[in-house]
Amino acid sequence: MRVLMENVVIIGSGCAGWTAALYTARANLRPLVLTGKQPGGLLTTTTVVENYPGFPEGIDGYELMVRLQKQAERFGARAQFGTVEAVDLSRQPFGLTVDGEPLAAEAIIIATGASHRHLGLEGEHKLENKGVTYCATCDGALPLFRNQPLVVVGGGDSACEEALYLTRFGSVVYLVHRRDALRASKIMAQRALSQPKIKPVWDSVVAEILDVKQDKVTGVRLRNVKTNAESVVECAGVFVAIGHVPNTELFKGVLEMDESGYIIPRKGTATNVPGVFVAGDCADRVYRQAVTAAGLGCAAGIEAERYLAARHG
Ligand code: NAP
Repeated sequence: MRVLMENVVIIGSGCAGWTAALYTARANLRPLVLTGKQPGGLLTTTTVVENYPGFPEGIDGYELMVRLQKQAERFGARAQFGTVEAVDLSRQPFGLTVDGEPLAAEAIIIATGASHRHLGLEGEHKLENKGVTYCATCDGALPLFRNQPLVVVGGGDSACEEALYLTRFGSVVYLVHRRDALRASKIMAQRALSQPKIKPVWDSVVAEILDVKQDKVTGVRLRNVKTNAESVVECAGVFVAIGHVPNTELFKGVLEMDESGYIIPRKGTATNVPGVFVAGDCADRVYRQAVTAAGLGCAAGIEAERYLAARHG
């Protein structure tokens, strides 16, 4: 079988991936961007992005990603809807299997991002899309949630953002956090806590999501972590916003990672395998911002270009 040979394959199509594509495209490398199951990445599921420089009024997350893609495509980047199932980084050119088809690449930029972390409860899994969701902007407007009490779990910027968004639909939004102070940035925390429809529930975790027997969310059983007291809060929806896990399963045992699965770059964006670079949330447990992902995508693009130039003398 003839295997298609690429200069640079970029795995992932979020801010990091498309910025790496922009830089490698402008270096005439015609990068191929494999979009993954969620083209545009997690940012496409947010509403307005207020902290990406250059957009004083904010910009819709989906629109930002469409613009990044257009900008990279203008210089010759190509997008392919597909998921990488396997990689072989043991020899040059590197091998990839994309939806069953083989592909070869001289350089790879990993920009696979991160996915929503789960609570790990039985009811969470069984009631997913039956009241349990990980994305208020995707699901918040569903009739199921209209004028109903809703629960958001988490204390970070995402939880605050989800809770604020849900005040448009729910009758009341309980913000359930395991500590007594939010992790969110001051501006987001202040906005959330001053919104009358948002009721914080401190020092509490969700012990159970009800009701698997009825095959829909009817409430949550909460446990106060300080007193161990339990209570039931009725609600029609549970929005889980407790952070993310890096999408790096594919590279386990091959690329150096920390204990949480974040890829550890050796120098700049270079990994322990020469010719394989990493950018964005899959390698960043500290900042995890759209602009830092874009910055790292730029660095990975430049480093991939230099690597290929050195190989070809
Ligand atoms: P995050 O900052 O990691 O916050 C996760 C929250 O979930 C924390 O409050 C954490 O509690 C809680 N949590 C984690 N595991 C839990 C569990 N098993 N059970 C219950 N609670 C749990 O994640 P994020 O809010 O998704 O934000 C990720 C990054 O994106 C951040 O850098 C954030 O600034 C950025 N972001 C920015 C914006 C914005 O600027 N508008 C919006 C969204 C995200 P503890 O606090 O106790 O650890």
